[in-house]
Amino acid sequence: MKKILFLLLILPGLLLAQNHETNIKLIFETELSQGHTYQNLRYLTKKIGHRLAGSPGAAASVEWTRQLMESYGFDTVYLQPVMVPHWERGGKDVVKIVNSSKHGTVELNALALGNTQGTGPKGLVGELIEVKSIEELRALGEKVKGKIVFFNGPMDPRKVDAFQAYGGANAQRSSGAGEASKLGAIGTLVRSLSPTVNDIPHTGNQRYNPDFPKIPAIAISTADAELLSDLLEDQPDLRVYLESHGEMKPDQLSYNVIGELWGSEKPEEIIAVGGHLDSWDVGEGAHDDGAGCIQAIEVLRLYKSMGWKPKRTLRAVMWMNEENGLRGGQEYAKVAKAKGEKHIAAIESDSGGFLPTGFTSTGTEAQRAKLQSWGDLLLPYQLWNLDKPGGGADIGPLRDQGPILIGLKPDSQRYFYLHHTEADVFEAVDQRELELGAAAMAALVYLIDQEGI
Ligand SMILES: [Zn+2]
Repeated sequence: MKKILFLLLILPGLLLAQNHETNIKLIFETELSQGHTYQNLRYLTKKIGHRLAGSPGAAASVEWTRQLMESYGFDTVYLQPVMVPHWERGGKDVVKIVNSSKHGTVELNALALGNTQGTGPKGLVGELIEVKSIEELRALGEKVKGKIVFFNGPMDPRKVDAFQAYGGANAQRSSGAGEASKLGAIGTLVRSLSPTVNDIPHTGNQRYNPDFPKIPAIAISTADAELLSDLLEDQPDLRVYLESHGEMKPDQLSYNVIGELWGSEKPEEIIAVGGHLDSWDVGEGAHDDGAGCIQAIEVLRLYKSMGWKPKRTLRAVMWMNEENGLRGGQEYAKVAKAKGEKHIAAIESDSGGFLPTGFTSTGTEAQRAKLQSWGDLLLPYQLWNLDKPGGGADIGPLRDQGPILIGLKPDSQRYFYLHHTEADVFEAVDQRELELGAAAMAALVYLIDQEGI
């Protein structure tokens, strides 16, 4: 009797563990042999293209992902309305050195930052003042007045984690114009946030200080930033011509796109997995973040294709407007709270469709310990990186509702070569790495679905 009781106690544990191993293997094998991620990303990037909030591309991507999830037979697919900011670049951005004693006129590779107000067709000309950071700018005080501030802070190459290097240099792009305007500057140029020196300019979001004039803010390529800095050293009276055409239009109605598989045992417990559907208005938004959206849809599709019924409700979410407003993520959290929904986990893939190494997370000690307790099951798939803090921009607003926030952590060394540029295209994504990312997310969703967290 005692023996039987003992067996009953340990057997379910053993069987479950065995199942996990087998099932995770099946997830990877199915994805790597019959996955849909690559073909779906091809459609999103090649047929639809870039998708800034409020643009025709964004609207087309909403409709296409809705139809795609419906075609897979998910239990429900719906659109969640959200008002989004609508910025348009409005034309070609031009930056020219106009009086180089060495080279005469030199045109630089330029791309205005998102949400900027353009100079208009007449452009503007001004002298430059170079700084490496916002702190340096502040220290200059009055000297900035009437000048174009040239932010030339590089990403720190000593940081092994590319996101840390990006984070360290990001303030000059995101708030440089607002800070410079406060001191009376007439415009800003910003060194592109790239770890390498080349000719590709990177756009990205910036926020003005509402109390000061909206001065133009334009990124130039890293190679041109180095050139400009060298020329300035020899010739401090160097002047540049800026021309850009950006304009904020009235907010526009758009949508988060949501597909669900309903849970069979605890349907009220939601596991959300997603990426952001919008992208910048250059390139194709392939790594950022078409990859994440397609991977999230694939998680639910894998469940369907293997005939699995989840215990908890699985939700694939394509958030809108992460890049220049985060309205989709905010609205999603607001609606979840208003409806009294219970998210136990929210997983975002928004670090590129590169080789996955694990997951970052933010949550209670118990939640994070549970995630790390699955290390042995994930390690055979090279998912070793489970202890770092993190999450994702779109899932951040869910934080106070208690779910563990999880970010897929790929090897992002090459991410910032492409990020927010014309080079972020389908061809820059590797099929196998993309599929491994989708399978990694599916394996984690499977574990959370089976065991809770
Ligand atoms: Zn992104």
